[in-house]
Amino acid sequence: MKTEVVESIFQNLQNYIPTPSIELNYYDSYTLLVAVILSAQATDISVNKVTSELFIVAPTPQKMLALGKTELKKYIKSIGLYNSKADYIIDMSKQIICDFGGKIPNTIEQLTTLAGVGRKSANVILNVIFNQPTIAVDTHVFRVANRLGLCETKTPKDTEFALMKVIPKKWIKNAHILLVLHGRYLCKAKNPNCSKCTLKKMCNYFNKNFV
Ligand code: SF4
Repeated sequence: MKTEVVESIFQNLQNYIPTPSIELNYYDSYTLLVAVILSAQATDISVNKVTSELFIVAPTPQKMLALGKTELKKYIKSIGLYNSKADYIIDMSKQIICDFGGKIPNTIEQLTTLAGVGRKSANVILNVIFNQPTIAVDTHVFRVANRLGLCETKTPKDTEFALMKVIPKKWIKNAHILLVLHGRYLCKAKNPNCSKCTLKKMCNYFNKNFV
């Protein structure tokens, strides 16, 4: 895809999402890490509901360990896969204290050693907390990027690398959240709302299916 088309896609996205920001609620790097672990296969709204109470009692790794797994599960039981997510959160909290001196690490290599933290989650932390130009590829980013024709990929990791190559530097920092929000509210998985989309002219999927 030509650079001017990519530029135009992101300018359009920025025009209708002028202040792109993550929709998970958090206070700091640790609480974002917990929220991101809870958000796997769950909506941000459902996660925010449980963290609004959980973070009052357990906003730090030390307090999370003091709360303990059994009590933690009571807070998060409305979230899918809460048993394994509770294991991850307790193990991750121990690692933060024992392996990283209580501080959240700031490299992808270190972040992905934490329980429950994969490449996507690590890239969210690096981008949002450490202000690094990373692209976290979730299901929305994967779908939207491929529909638009920003890439032709089969895996999230390939998508991340392809997007890092094709997206101009100035858009990288906000690229993932712009694509997430576009996918969540307009370019939905089942019924993309193409009639209302300002990216129609630049979109492979639209041009293949509706022109
Ligand atoms: S035109 Fe349709 S498929 Fe293309 S980005 Fe917009 S909503 Fe998605």
